[in-house]
Amino acid sequence: MSFGGKRAIITGSNSGIGLGVAEALAAAGAEVILNSLTDRAEDHELSAELGARHGVVARYIAADMSKGAECRGLIEKAGGCDILVNNAGIQFVSPIEDFPVEKWDAILAINLSSAFHTIAAALPGMRAKGWGRIVDIASAHGLTASPYKSAYVASKHAIVGLTKTIALETAGQGITVNAVCPGYVLTPLVEAQIPEQMKVHNMDRETVIREVMLQRQPSRQFATTDQVGGTVVFLCSPAADQITGTTISVDGGWTAL
Ligand code: NAD
Repeated sequence: MSFGGKRAIITGSNSGIGLGVAEALAAAGAEVILNSLTDRAEDHELSAELGARHGVVARYIAADMSKGAECRGLIEKAGGCDILVNNAGIQFVSPIEDFPVEKWDAILAINLSSAFHTIAAALPGMRAKGWGRIVDIASAHGLTASPYKSAYVASKHAIVGLTKTIALETAGQGITVNAVCPGYVLTPLVEAQIPEQMKVHNMDRETVIREVMLQRQPSRQFATTDQVGGTVVFLCSPAADQITGTTISVDGGWTAL
């Protein structure tokens, strides 16, 4: 498969799943635009090295996905895109009574509203070309809930709803819109939850991973960033031309329970 001539923007891609998706799309020949909110030399080096590895153009554009104008600015600065992967996301865990309002606002802004803005900005260019792929990185928490993750679960259910809605608005126009719902993938976002979970459950690292974190993932194995990247590549391929407005789980059986 080759995405030569296609430009992909992946939000929140200097780490974790976003970086894995950028790697997979670049390996398939796409020009890739990496993004995060920082603007460090290492961010630009990361994308230059990724481009060199795969012989494709790779650029890094800093933009804060918690700010609507910056989300739209990212698409404009990139010169539009053929493939848009809405991946930027954050997590915070707390009972709702103690849930900090600013955390709720930030999670909704970054995990959900950013996609509203990037999609609105990217669609006119896709429509003009008669081809586009939008992939929203939701979560198993887009389909099921867990206690203490009110903002995250709400944002991920909502992005699945946004995915379906935009799929209907673009049906038959050469544009598909889908969501990927990973279970646990060992990335910095998940790594950051381990010490807290060890404390709460009074368990060592291996036990908390197996018995608590992967308790709902029947495979008891983390999904990998490569596997999520491969799923995004599939959704952008001709085999997926008629797949739109749906979700694909990469969750080791979580949502089958
Ligand atoms: P991560 O922390 O490794 O990566 C998150 C990315 O988002 C980073 O590149 C970070 O810089 C970026 N980001 C954060 N705030 C931003 C902002 N304001 N503006 C721009 N970029 C910002 O986390 P990850 O695990 O790779 O998560 C990526 C996506 O996958 C998220 O949407 C997350 O909810 C989703 N997801 C992750 C898992 C998992 O187990 N890791 C499971 C299901 C879904």
